[in-house]
Amino acid sequence: MSGIELHGLTKRFGEFEAVSGVDLTIPNHAFCVILGPSGCGKSTILNCIAGLERVTGGRVHIGGVDVTELAPHERNVAMVFQSSLLYPHLTARQNIFMSLKRSGMKSDAISSRVVKAAQTLEIQPVLDKKPNALSGGERQRVAMAKAIVREPAAFLMDEPLAALDAMLRQSLRSELVALQKRLGTTTVFVTHDQIEAMTMSDVTVVMKDGRIEQVGSPSEVYDRPRSRFVAGFIGSPRMNFMEGEVTTHDSRVVFETACGAFTFPDGFVPGIRAADRGCTLGIRPQHVRIDPRPGPDRIEATVYAVENLGREVVVLVRDQHEHVYRILSDRDRSVRAGDAVHVALDMRFAFLFDR
Ligand code: ATP
Repeated sequence: MSGIELHGLTKRFGEFEAVSGVDLTIPNHAFCVILGPSGCGKSTILNCIAGLERVTGGRVHIGGVDVTELAPHERNVAMVFQSSLLYPHLTARQNIFMSLKRSGMKSDAISSRVVKAAQTLEIQPVLDKKPNALSGGERQRVAMAKAIVREPAAFLMDEPLAALDAMLRQSLRSELVALQKRLGTTTVFVTHDQIEAMTMSDVTVVMKDGRIEQVGSPSEVYDRPRSRFVAGFIGSPRMNFMEGEVTTHDSRVVFETACGAFTFPDGFVPGIRAADRGCTLGIRPQHVRIDPRPGPDRIEATVYAVENLGREVVVLVRDQHEHVYRILSDRDRSVRAGDAVHVALDMRFAFLFDR
């Protein structure tokens, strides 16, 4: 049985189309992360699944049932938002209790579910506190307890970790994944943070301008990005891009830029037709190297900044045409701003994107 299916989902706000004909199948039990820049339509999709927004076109299926015309409370989904909606005058326990109050369940049964949810999220010590006496992390745990206590068919989460500090976000991220795996509840998680997407998802959906750019496992979207947009959005530091042409010299296939040329490894087939050889080369910062010496297949550049990440450094260099390259290295600690260097690319890891 499929978890969640979207068929041609479209949502317009007046003239503006926020989501354009999205088709997506999220397998049962999967943790799906919808990723994309601000305004690309992530929250709108989530709200359409939840029933908080009426779709303009298309259908939404949850657990094999067409829920497109159903009200939010009839869809058996639970939402968690960035700022959790807790009643300020009620304790954490009462807030969680409220999730099931209208379910028709007996109070005793609800209370024991509340205790079980509190144990799962390790919030028993704060159950009798009111929201303003809870930390941000505790409030989000209570919000998640409110969601899991209902034992819904799906969790829909809209940037639930975004308001937390980096340390807490990191630990809650792994807890949330472990919890989802334990419960097996199909989850759709919206974020603009690619690290969250890469670390949490079974299925990553990358969106741009109301459309899906690519769907795949985190390693598929990282290792085989289908477009320049996906390649640039996934991975940190960001992929380097340069414009140029693929040409053949003798039997070598070469990428020529205004600043120099780079040779592809033997046997490389560019996959780009001769007629549109003008293209973009993408290469991740860990596959760019600094060399103090000149040589073939190198570009002259000047270091203008070195960012220390602890174990590694990001070296930013500029070529004669003011083109910037990001280089991730754990060796070049001796490099300083102002140094004249030569940039070499490990072309085995280069991507080519059609213009
Ligand atoms: P963010 O990461 O900033 O939350 P998002 O990808 O979740 O962005 P949405 O909130 O889905 O984006 O919004 C998609 C587009 O639809 C945006 O341009 C937004 O301004 C627009 N939009 C969203 N809700 C409405 C609304 N109720 N009325 C008009 N336009 C809206």
